[in-house]
This record gives sequence, structure tokens and C-alpha cells, in this order.
Amino acid sequence: MMDRASFLQHLAWASIAPFALSACGRSQSTPVPEAAASDTLDVHPLPTDIPPLDKTKEDWRDRLSADAYQILFEAGTEPRYSSPLLKEERTGTYICAACRLPLFSSKTKYESGTGWPSFWAPLEGQIETKKDMKLGYQRTEYHCVRCGGHQGHVFEDGPEPTGLRYCNNGLALAFVPAEESLPPLRT
Ligand SMILES: [Zn+2]
Repeated sequence: MMDRASFLQHLAWASIAPFALSACGRSQSTPVPEAAASDTLDVHPLPTDIPPLDKTKEDWRDRLSADAYQILFEAGTEPRYSSPLLKEERTGTYICAACRLPLFSSKTKYESGTGWPSFWAPLEGQIETKKDMKLGYQRTEYHCVRCGGHQGHVFEDGPEPTGLRYCNNGLALAFVPAEESLPPLRT
């Protein structure tokens, strides 16, 4: 029989261990591919001081084109092959067209043949995902972590090293070439 002290110690270990194991397990079983580590993807230094944002949909409607507003804040989709960013091949950073948070590096852009700008990874920590059922089957929507603006959907048929395809609306992004500075974040 365990005495009370060692039983409590056992309980404490039992409650900590699963977290410790899952943290280790995750980093061992699915290591971040070297090429996807954010420090190798950044073209521009990313902003570290992120000012708070408190805008309503109406505020965004006033600041964006009708088409960009529809995509970013009403979860619209632009027609395929309509974005000039499909042909953008320069080195640079793709930023949120609404709040200007950097979302993608040109180093992860690739030609997916879908008619929408496509990336195999976002810049680390800059997007959030959620499930949607708009087309009657489950898709994973993703949006800018700062302003909540809808960007596109992520699919599991992308190229190495992630196998992911971030299918993005061009109107939800703006491109900043490497030789230009990033514009200040919108507040
Ligand atoms: Zn944004």
C-alpha cells in the first residue's frame, strides 16, 4: 500500500505526465520542417509591437473596396484566375489587406493551378482557423489573427514540406516587395 504522501505524489505525477508526454510527443512526431521555421521564411522583419484594433464591420466597409470587404468580412470568394497576385513572383511579404498584418512569405508561395494565390505555410502565429460547412462539407477556413478578416481555406493537398495548401483570395492580401518597408499596421 502507498502511504498518503506517496499517493498524493503519484496523483500529482499522473496529472502532469499526460501534458508532458503530449508536448514531447508532438515535437518528436511532427517536427516543424526546417524550411517552415519562421526565421527562414521572413523576408521583412515582422512587427513585434502590435497595436490593438477595435473596428466594426462598418468601419472596414468604409476603408475597403466593396469586393475586398465582401471577402474579408462577409467570407466571400473572388472568381478564380482574377487575382493579379497569381503572377506575382517577386520576393516579399503578403500582408492582410485590411489591417496589414504580415500573413505569408513569398518563400511559401507556389503555383497550385487552382486560380487562387496559394501558399504551403503561413507566417507563424499570424492566422487562425475554424471549420465551416458552407458548401455542405467540412472545410477549414482561416483568417487574420489580428482583424479576423477571412483569407481563404486550407486543404491537405499541398506540396512538401507541409503538405498543406492555403488557398487565398488575392483581394484579401497586399504584396510588399523585399526592397520596400512594410506599411504601418492599421489602427
Ligand atoms: Zn488583418
